Amino acid sequence: MTIASVDRTIRLIKTGAAAGSTCSPDLAAGPWEFDSGTPGYGPGSSMGDVLPTGSPRQGALPERYRLATTEELGERIRAAKETLGDRVVVLGHFYQRDEVLQHADFVGDSFQLAQATKSRPDAEAIIFCGVHFMAETADLLSTPDQAVILPNLAAGCSMADMADIDSVTDCWEQLEDLYGTEPDADGRVPVIPVTYMNSSAALKAFCGEHGGIVCTSSNAETVLEWAFARGRRVLFFPDQHLGRNTAKAMGIPLEHMPMWNPRKPLGGSTADELGDAEVILWHGFCSVHKRFTVDQITAARLEHPDVRVIVHPECPMAVVDAADEYGSTDYIKKAIEAAPAGSTFAIGTEINLVQRLAAEHPEHTIFCLDPVICPCSTMYRIHSGYLAWVLEALVGTAEQPAEVVNRITVDQKVAGHARVALERMLAARPPAALPAGSTSSTGTGA
Ligand code: SF4
Repeated sequence: MTIASVDRTIRLIKTGAAAGSTCSPDLAAGPWEFDSGTPGYGPGSSMGDVLPTGSPRQGALPERYRLATTEELGERIRAAKETLGDRVVVLGHFYQRDEVLQHADFVGDSFQLAQATKSRPDAEAIIFCGVHFMAETADLLSTPDQAVILPNLAAGCSMADMADIDSVTDCWEQLEDLYGTEPDADGRVPVIPVTYMNSSAALKAFCGEHGGIVCTSSNAETVLEWAFARGRRVLFFPDQHLGRNTAKAMGIPLEHMPMWNPRKPLGGSTADELGDAEVILWHGFCSVHKRFTVDQITAARLEHPDVRVIVHPECPMAVVDAADEYGSTDYIKKAIEAAPAGSTFAIGTEINLVQRLAAEHPEHTIFCLDPVICPCSTMYRIHSGYLAWVLEALVGTAEQPAEVVNRITVDQKVAGHARVALERMLAARPPAALPAGSTSSTGTGA
């Protein structure tokens, strides 16, 4: 397969050897340049987002990794992996840079990678080339003896960081004051909390503890059906767009989906508005998918009249409405694989995945809706220098005993509640998939 590396494209644009534009001139620099400076998400889609106080920071990376070429780092990673053999498994997210992803044993979205964790219970170390909440989920689903490693601790997710446990707890207390806690005549409680997979383990635990559930971009509608079978309304966090797009597709009117801004009393809505609410949407978003616009879709259709426009449900509602289709990264991949040769696709999701799909499918024309090269800045913090560092630390040397660095561990109490919310999600089934005679999507829901 020809690797269409976003890194290489960025470097070529920077030196003038290729046409195109990037969202930041600093994209070609190593992430350690930013890890040591002002706390932030680094250059890329999330660079304008506010980094919460107390977010993990990455320590200095030794010079021998910072100064090595991509080729040298690739050799070192291969050698360390060979030495470690089955003792280690490397997981890589679809949005990861190709220089890292080529070393992954499993490639997928956050949910597929969480499941991959369970398929290698004998591996001593799971190296998660993704972002912080994904590594936490891997720790929840792995065995206590396995160490989950995030190569760069500063690889957070700006969307996940938009909802923290204190703000959600404060919101919940205000909603309890407003709605009470008693179930109605049908046994449905006033509110069910639903968190997107892209959230901290603390929020997954909050859902597990309060009768709620986790969802992914593939199963959000099934999960909302599950929640409405048990509650009169849903508090959905942290991504307003996934919540709104899913609820709208289920026929819920927009006026019954107030937004909750954690900085305002009652989230910025009136008690009457919240009284009519069916889905309360947290004020969060993904800075990668927020970049897509209806104008980009119009331009793609003008240039390619037969184009199929597919966008991710984290995109704003107007973009989802203007697209031909929307779906998770897995949906996008499968749609491209199933299309007749010669198809043209304009895709609204992260640039590393779009360029890789274009390289894997030379029989189609595939391009990103956004003409500016702007990767997910948090995912971009994982560089092959960090991957080489964590792997070589596991191998050790004569002078330096083998060690686990950058281990991600979820507190046991939090983990217990978070697993409950994840298990409810795994048990939830779309109504059409129920066996004849069933009346509920999940039985007890646990
Ligand atoms: S693409 Fe968006 S949701 Fe995914 S890790 Fe990056 S910032 Fe978070």
